[in-house]
Amino acid sequence: MGFFDKLKLSRLKEGLSKTRENLTTKINKLVKGKTTIDDDFLEELEHILIAADVGVHPTLDIVEKISERAKKERYSSEEELNNMLIDEIQNMLADARESHVVDFEESLPEKPYVILIVGVNGVGKTTSIGKMAYNYKEAGKKVLIAAADTFRAAATEQLEIWAERAGVPMISQGQGADPASVVFDSVSSAIAKDMDVVLVDTAGRLHNKSHLMDELSKIMRVAKKKVPDAPHEVLLVLDASTGQNAINQAKEFLKAVNVTGLILTKLDGTAKGGVVIGISKELNIPVKYIGVGEKIDDLQIFDRKKFLEALLN
Ligand code: GDP
Ligand code: GDP
Ligand code: MG
Repeated sequence: MGFFDKLKLSRLKEGLSKTRENLTTKINKLVKGKTTIDDDFLEELEHILIAADVGVHPTLDIVEKISERAKKERYSSEEELNNMLIDEIQNMLADARESHVVDFEESLPEKPYVILIVGVNGVGKTTSIGKMAYNYKEAGKKVLIAAADTFRAAATEQLEIWAERAGVPMISQGQGADPASVVFDSVSSAIAKDMDVVLVDTAGRLHNKSHLMDELSKIMRVAKKKVPDAPHEVLLVLDASTGQNAINQAKEFLKAVNVTGLILTKLDGTAKGGVVIGISKELNIPVKYIGVGEKIDDLQIFDRKKFLEALLN
């Protein structure tokens, strides 16, 4: 493992420390001194997983699998029990639909590659755009940010700060402008300037506000006028620290928008990071990125192996 990979892993570990405390420490305690699995054990395990926001269905799945295995492998050592648990949690993540996540370095299928970022207020859309812009730029790509959150005056200013930090241009039309028009301008400019990626920031919206959902459809329609396959990705941003609420929010959103991937933010400082384990299984949508802090380099590509390594070790 190279220096930067080590640094990333240690950041991830740091970011997941509260979840690790909540999940792994409790599991270790549960397993300690045990050589058999009985109903009490299974019940306690269920409590632990649910408390860590792994989700009801994924939790019941894990508990059932452990119970089945326990029947076959009746007398296990403490270590074997522990491994069995890690195994099943790993399987849970492996079951989740494999994402088409690629490194920021990899070449993109089309130019410009348009990514639309959606979600409710305050989940971390703008921050994630800043972090993504930084990562794509570092990877040598030409990035343009589209300020299609025209709802609040401060939104564009906040995005501008991120664009400056990342060292990428931004296109805006000011408060009250038609977001679709900003996107049209941005995609046109990206084509003219041979840009690789267009990141579109949008205003926070609730799935049940139909005029706001129509606005999203309009943004997509207008982007297609210039790039027929745009948006290539629609990423839904969810605040992981809201735990199961994030899943419910996503379920509602998915009814209205064709989301291609998830960004789970604010994993640092929450004990509810278990939500990442269950979410892709419950929603059948890949988690693409995770946010582990407020700084520009605090966005990581979600890699389940690394995630588990950071969580369970
Ligand atoms: P938006 O309304 O969805 O655009 O959300 P913002 O990007 O404005 O973020 C809302 C707040 O969440 C800001 O204070 C961010 O600093 C914070 N935030 C975003 N992502 C993360 C993260 O991964 N970790 C932490 N700790 N804070 C985050
Ligand atoms: P409408 O506003 O309901 O008519 O929806 P449209 O899909 O026609 O366009 C949405 C927005 O995108 C418009 O307000 C324009 O600002 C912008 N737009 C769409 N098509 C074009 C175009 O061909 N040229 C330019 N300059 N802007 C366009
Ligand atoms: Mg924002």
